[in-house]
Amino acid sequence: MSSSSKTTVAPSTATTPAHTSSADGRPGSISLRGVSQIYGKGADRVTAVGPVDLEVEPGEFLVLVGASGCGKSTLLRLIAGFEQPAEGGVEVSGGAAVPGHTSGVVFQQPRLFPWRTVGGNIDLALKYAGVAKSERLARRKELLERVGLIDVDKRRIWEISGGQQQRVAIARALAARTSLLLLDEPFAALDALTRERLQDDLRTVSVESGRTNVFVTHSAEEAAFLGTRIVVLTKRPGRIVLDIASPILRTGLSAGELRDSPEYTVLRTQVHEAIKGAAE
Ligand code: ADP
Ligand code: MG
Repeated sequence: MSSSSKTTVAPSTATTPAHTSSADGRPGSISLRGVSQIYGKGADRVTAVGPVDLEVEPGEFLVLVGASGCGKSTLLRLIAGFEQPAEGGVEVSGGAAVPGHTSGVVFQQPRLFPWRTVGGNIDLALKYAGVAKSERLARRKELLERVGLIDVDKRRIWEISGGQQQRVAIARALAARTSLLLLDEPFAALDALTRERLQDDLRTVSVESGRTNVFVTHSAEEAAFLGTRIVVLTKRPGRIVLDIASPILRTGLSAGELRDSPEYTVLRTQVHEAIKGAAE
């Protein structure tokens, strides 16, 4: 079977990008209008990012990509509500971004409680999310199944691998059932094989969960593999230079078939060239 036969281009995604319309406040939508962030004062004043205008529709898997230091993490922190923009407005699901409430966040370092068990970390996240004690065990099992960790439920965090720790961080971010998941280079510190496995599983998890994902990376491969839409930023202060809908179908294609497909190769090259051009 030729892999290209399954990699059908979806004209509806490719020619009518959903992001041309306003996100209009539905759960999982994001709206950035004229957003810039400035750090420091006087001679130390730095415009880190912007101005950026971006409308994200519920269910999109948006990958923000650009060279190191261009402002990707800054944009993610603004969407998470960890900081307020110097200029412009940020809306998430039609309202203000509230840390811990409007989105789940996964960082490059998993930031778990090392002395707790895997299940204990998830249980705590469920507790913070307001899930009743009677429901927590079932939800914890369901989340651990989802990220492939059911066998290490009782292990301490320091007893599992870096890849497994990042799976715990993803399960924890999913625990709150927010309509939005933000991921900041979550696989950058992992070895190539582990990174690929986690990418494969995140792709499946994201299709199943139906959430909106914003995933930050500096890798064109990762962007082309994961994104339903890819936004490339210029060097600092990051502004949008490329905003494309992926022509690759989300379902019916295995990870291997996707990586072998000509559409993936073309998209990866296009993103790679855009990152290189934008960094000059
Ligand atoms: P990226 O995630 O794309 O690597 P960042 O968003 O972390 O980029 O940073 C963008 C720019 O803003 C960088 O030049 C960085 O040094 C600067 N910056 C980020 N956070 C701060 C801060 N809290 N104070 C001062 N400068 C910052
Ligand atoms: Mg960063």
